[in-house]
Amino acid sequence: MEKIFVSSPNLCGNEKKYVDDCLESTWISSKGKYIGLFESGFASYVHTSHALSCSNGTVALHLALEALGIGSGDEVLVPVLTYIATANAVRYTGAEPIFVEADSDTWNLDPAKLEEKITPRTKAILVVHLYGNPVDMDPVMRIAREKNLYVIEDAAEAHGARYQGEMVGSIGNISTFSFFGNKVITTGEGGMVVTNDDALAAKVSLLKGQGVDPMKSYWHTVVGYNYRMTNIQAAIGLAQLENIDHQIMQRQKVEERYHEKLADLSDYLVFQKPTPGSTPVCWMFSVLLRETVSFERDEVMNLLAMAGIETRPLFYPITQLPPYVCDETFPVAERIASRGMNLPTHSLMTTEQVDYVCQTIRGIIGGQR
Ligand SMILES: *Cc1c(COP(=O)(O)O)cnc(C)c1O
Repeated sequence: MEKIFVSSPNLCGNEKKYVDDCLESTWISSKGKYIGLFESGFASYVHTSHALSCSNGTVALHLALEALGIGSGDEVLVPVLTYIATANAVRYTGAEPIFVEADSDTWNLDPAKLEEKITPRTKAILVVHLYGNPVDMDPVMRIAREKNLYVIEDAAEAHGARYQGEMVGSIGNISTFSFFGNKVITTGEGGMVVTNDDALAAKVSLLKGQGVDPMKSYWHTVVGYNYRMTNIQAAIGLAQLENIDHQIMQRQKVEERYHEKLADLSDYLVFQKPTPGSTPVCWMFSVLLRETVSFERDEVMNLLAMAGIETRPLFYPITQLPPYVCDETFPVAERIASRGMNLPTHSLMTTEQVDYVCQTIRGIIGGQR
């Protein structure tokens, strides 16, 4: 059997046609019609009034934070269980990420653990919809209102997910998406900042384009960045967006098949629980190995690799990584991370491939008895 990759982009739509159009028309840099089309299409998809494209999901976070005026001396609450970019973007601004423990069911930041981390320096709560599972936003928004904090949604892993019927990315003050090659939709590398706030959108636009005055060319009013997306990336993005509902549905089928085929292994495996009131998108189907599994997580991953199945460990808690090591412990996040892995999840996976992954897991876990 061919190797089964943990993720794969699905480029079955107009991607090639639109990219060819860029090449033939010579509009290959960060000007051109696809940028506007992708941005307006994405804004209407997530139900925000603005969508601003940029070069990747990490700089999208940097732009969002800087547009809010967050900087040196400020603190931003961040989940301890996330991808490193979430914390790094806070550091780029000079602010300090303050880590919040995970919820043992949803694996997202636990809203009940937020308030104890708030200090007079706290400026914002940066939530992450981990692996496509929406954060429980109601308590987060309530705390933010009470304490006068901004809310930023890092929706890099959750395009199309909903919380209480609302699109993720449209709930906080400003939100970000990533279009890296393994995300729900991709532009190769790419990112988007979305908001309903006109002033924030103008700030992001200024910052991502070298701080140039929109009314006066080559007049730079602030120290900005070159964080622009290219027309080629946007061309791919537009084609991806045309197919997003189909791609999400295919991912959902993969998820349902995993659940069906692994249901009887629930003495051995734990699954990520959808946040009540939400409709997650299955970015990465993930399992935790219970204590009843005598193998270490890495041993199981190695055995799967030998069977041609690529997997990923769950993210390490950020406070275990060298730039962020600290004395504080996060037992929930640490337990989830040490026993968890992402299984192959993408919209091109066949039922046979999912079944093969499940059968191989069953063989490994069954083989230990
Ligand atoms: C992928 C990801 C990012 C960063 O996106 P890039 O496009 O890779 O820079 C940020 N946050 C989270 C949670 C991610 O998964």
